Amino acid sequence: MSASILRVPSELQLRCDEHRARGLTLGLVPTMGALHEGHLALVKEAREHASLVVVTIFVNPTQFGPNEDFQKYPRDTAGDIRKCEQAGAGLIFTPDVADMYPKGDATRVQVHGLTEYLCGPLRPGHFEGVATIVTKLFALVGRSVAVFGRKDYQQVKVIERLVADLMLPVKIVTHPTVRETDGLALSSRNAYLSADERERARVIPQALSHAIQQHGAGLRSASALRENVQALLTKAGLRVDYVSVADPETLVPVSENADVPDTALLAVAAFCGKTRLIDNVVLGRDAPPVAGGSV
Ligand code: AMP
Repeated sequence: MSASILRVPSELQLRCDEHRARGLTLGLVPTMGALHEGHLALVKEAREHASLVVVTIFVNPTQFGPNEDFQKYPRDTAGDIRKCEQAGAGLIFTPDVADMYPKGDATRVQVHGLTEYLCGPLRPGHFEGVATIVTKLFALVGRSVAVFGRKDYQQVKVIERLVADLMLPVKIVTHPTVRETDGLALSSRNAYLSADERERARVIPQALSHAIQQHGAGLRSASALRENVQALLTKAGLRVDYVSVADPETLVPVSENADVPDTALLAVAAFCGKTRLIDNVVLGRDAPPVAGGSV
């Protein structure tokens, strides 16, 4: 199926309005490109909820810190367009930075509370950039079903919050994390990993699986669960940014001496070489990323 490719924000807005007026329902999948099977699963999910799927491909500068990888973030627009079309997207939006942040741009969207935890303090400004670009995309596309991956768990919660608070006509649907056969979560940033780093990165899904097993077997100490994950990651040569056991809705960490509830988010961020990888599972809800939970 061939898709329409649009670059100008006002054209996207107009086209979406026209499609809706003709009776179509719209799905939206925002991405930063360098598309992999995780993104394409979102496109397929969106097709289940809407008659026309819009995929946006935009490496959003405002969500990158000054020492992060905005410049070298992988870009492959031609390949991405082909993949989107194969997955059934009807409209692809690839705007320029200058059109999404035109001269005089001075508005940012801040979501409080949820952004104080996990990646928030370690990536100042990141969620403000995400919330701002997603709000712009929602304003352009209008009434729709937007699909996001649970790999970026905190991002989903932030977006759900902003949709509720700003009363936007967008329904949020989430899709489970898509993984390689060894459990590693697919990510555009995996392309940065050397062969040796890729091998070592397997420890992340292994450690999460081990924690699911321990929690399932009755371990309820937040510090023990966290430290066990941390020890496994460190032993494999990863540098841990955080390991957090937290409330799955508020993201508030479970205090060290409180019992971990039957359902809790376990989220990690760790550097493998220079590449920062994130992953998470909901203890008591998700299946282990690695069958058998082996370490
Ligand atoms: P990104 O291009 O990294 O900004 O991601 C765009 C969307 O794809 C976000 O909703 C991500 O959560 C989602 N996504 C990225 N990787 C995966 C994955 N491995 N499984 C499921 N969704 C993913």
